[in-house]
Order: sequence, then C-alpha cells, then structure tokens
Amino acid sequence: MRRPLIAGNWKMNKTVSESVEFARNFVDAVSDVADRDILICPPFTSLQVLGQIFDGTNVKLGAQNMHFEEKGAFTGEISPLMLKDVGCTFVILGHSERRHIFGENNDFINKKVLSAVSHGLIPILCVGELLEEREAGRTFEVVGTQLEEGLKGLSKEADFVVAYEPVWAIGTGKTATPELAEEVHRFLREKLAELFGKEKAESVRILYGGSVKPENVEGLMAMENIDGALVGGASLKVESFVKIVNFGR
Ligand code: PEP
Repeated sequence: MRRPLIAGNWKMNKTVSESVEFARNFVDAVSDVADRDILICPPFTSLQVLGQIFDGTNVKLGAQNMHFEEKGAFTGEISPLMLKDVGCTFVILGHSERRHIFGENNDFINKKVLSAVSHGLIPILCVGELLEEREAGRTFEVVGTQLEEGLKGLSKEADFVVAYEPVWAIGTGKTATPELAEEVHRFLREKLAELFGKEKAESVRILYGGSVKPENVEGLMAMENIDGALVGGASLKVESFVKIVNFGR
C-alpha cells in the first residue's frame, strides 16, 4: 500500500561534472523501474543540471537542506522558492549532520518542515538517536520528541516522509539489524497515529537510513514498517545505488 522510496543523499560529494556523469548513467540504468520512487539529493551546485537531466524520467530531485524563508538577508542559505525553481520535489530536513554538526534544533527544523509543505515540497524529516542515548535506553524518547516537535502544526493532509537514521549507524558501516530498525519504525508509526490518526499514519512512508548497502537492503525492506531507504555512501556509485533501487527484483 505504501509505495517504496529509495533516496540517495550525496552529502558534500561530487562536482557538477561528476554529478552529470553519474546522472546520465543512472537514468539509463533505472529507466525500467516503475513500482517505486527514486530520489537523488545532490549538493546545491548540482541541483539545476540534474533537474534538467531528470526531467521526464522516473528519477526525482531533492535538496539536502533549506531555509524556511523565501528570500532575504540569510547569507549562505537556500530558499524553498529556489529549490522549486530548479525542479526539486523533496527536501531532507533535520539530518543528523545538520543537528549535531551545525546545531539545528527541533524548533528550527519544524519551521523548515512547515515552510517546505506550504511551498509544495515534500519534507523528509530525519530522526535518530545517538549511541549514548540508545545505550541509556532513551531511543523512543529521543525519536518520539524529534518526530512530535518536527511535525508540530502540520495538517494531516500534508505530504511528508520520515527517515529513521540511528546516528551510530550513519557512515560507520554498522547497520541496525532489520528487527532493531523495525522496532523503532513501528514505534514511529504508532506515534504518527497519535498525532494524525491511524489512517494517515498508515500512509506515511518511513525510510531507514544508516549504512544501507546492496548486501543488507533486502532484509531491511522485508520489514512491515520499513518503506524505503535513505542512502548516503552507497548512493555515490551508480552500480551500488542501482542495486539498492532494484531490491526485491
Ligand atoms: C545518510 O546520509 O543519511 C546516511 C544514512 O549515510 P550512510 O548510508 O553513508 O550511512
């Protein structure tokens, strides 16, 4: 019932020419995939040209961050209008690197989520616990608060995606086991049902992120409440990302 979404987060990787080379090969390699959504979130500098390459294909374009204002004196920031203008339909918000390296908090992320939705962009709200929070038995409390505060004020008609990304599994090669991830995904769906009602909760896609690779994607995607993947490192090579996109086929 929930259409899978496989999203690549390139982080601060690839020049424009490297992005173009990837995109041309990738579009050809996945052109026959019709039963799932495919998304690439490159650095800002590559958005426009990838928007042109992906136009009319089955690959969607997303950004890795944005400011909540439309324009103004916000040096170094990018606005929702600018993202829409180059063809973005999704935007990753609250990624753990934004939270922990750049100090973004739930309140700031919530403003971006509301702004994204009001501009017709689909936010991918990332939540996830640090290793010490997991070891202290605080996983549900942390991700529950991030979810509730990140989505505060959102109408249940809004189109949004949630990504569970345990911080200890991002870029470390340590993937959560499918069972461990599923436990948190189930909790997040229950929380969504409290916030927006059961019907809406059943329709929201909850992605898993954290060292997803061709070797572990099948086990993760077999879980009832895992509806896709947010992929960092393994989305940088056409071969590995195509394999992930093609899970189950
Ligand atoms: C990410 O960037 O969101 C991520 C999950 O990275 P990686 O797949 O490299 O762990």
